Amino acid sequence: MSFYVVGTPIGNLEDITMRAIAVLSSVDLVLCEDTRVTSRLLERYHIQTPMLSYHTHSGASKVTAILKLLEAGKSVALVSDAGTPGISDPGSVLVAAVREKFPLLPIIAIPGPSAVAAALSISGLPSSDFLFLGFLPHKKGRETLFKEILASKRTTVFYESPHRILKTLEKLNTLLSPKRHVMVARELTKVYESIVAGSAPEVLTHFKEHADQVRGEFVVMVGPD
Ligand code: SAM
Repeated sequence: MSFYVVGTPIGNLEDITMRAIAVLSSVDLVLCEDTRVTSRLLERYHIQTPMLSYHTHSGASKVTAILKLLEAGKSVALVSDAGTPGISDPGSVLVAAVREKFPLLPIIAIPGPSAVAAALSISGLPSSDFLFLGFLPHKKGRETLFKEILASKRTTVFYESPHRILKTLEKLNTLLSPKRHVMVARELTKVYESIVAGSAPEVLTHFKEHADQVRGEFVVMVGPD
């Protein structure tokens, strides 16, 4: 029995390690969020390993079924739709369950891309340490996090969806001094990759004037106070 946690591309299917390909090819089962998304990756590398879905709405019975497979000696690789499992996606719940049930089982990381690291790496913002907030909550706790961003002496990074990006940029515009750097990394590694940088009003104006760019996937970064 082996349990691997495998980083996969965040857009460009070429961004995969040789080790990830070897593991995905050799395990008995690939656990993935959406089999349609992961099948594109597996097909690209001619990998025929069977898939089983494991996502946010998978209940306790799915976790139990996966633990049983491990108990039966199966080797399993966990991937997510994009990037590193467990970083703002359901991976960590399963990893915790595996750790609890099989404390001696090595859980092996096969590192790969993550949107947070890719965005920071091209930002030029201070990033020897940073505050990562994942997705901001829609309601409870949202205001508190904005206050945290406002006061932060570190670069703050969070993920945002196309449905909320304008709302979030408007909020940053009302809160932040125009001296603070805001950067939005969009569609990293994909055809329409872009990075928009400036003060909060400048970045907000950019997206208001380019409605075609209010789609896709976003990482938002705010420089330190
Ligand atoms: N586990 C993933 C990782 O390691 O990056 C993150 C999963 S989270 C469910 C998905 C969010 O990550 C997206 O909504 C977006 O905010 C960000 N993201 C993923 N791929 C991205 C990309 N290519 N460009 C920009 N942001 C991306």
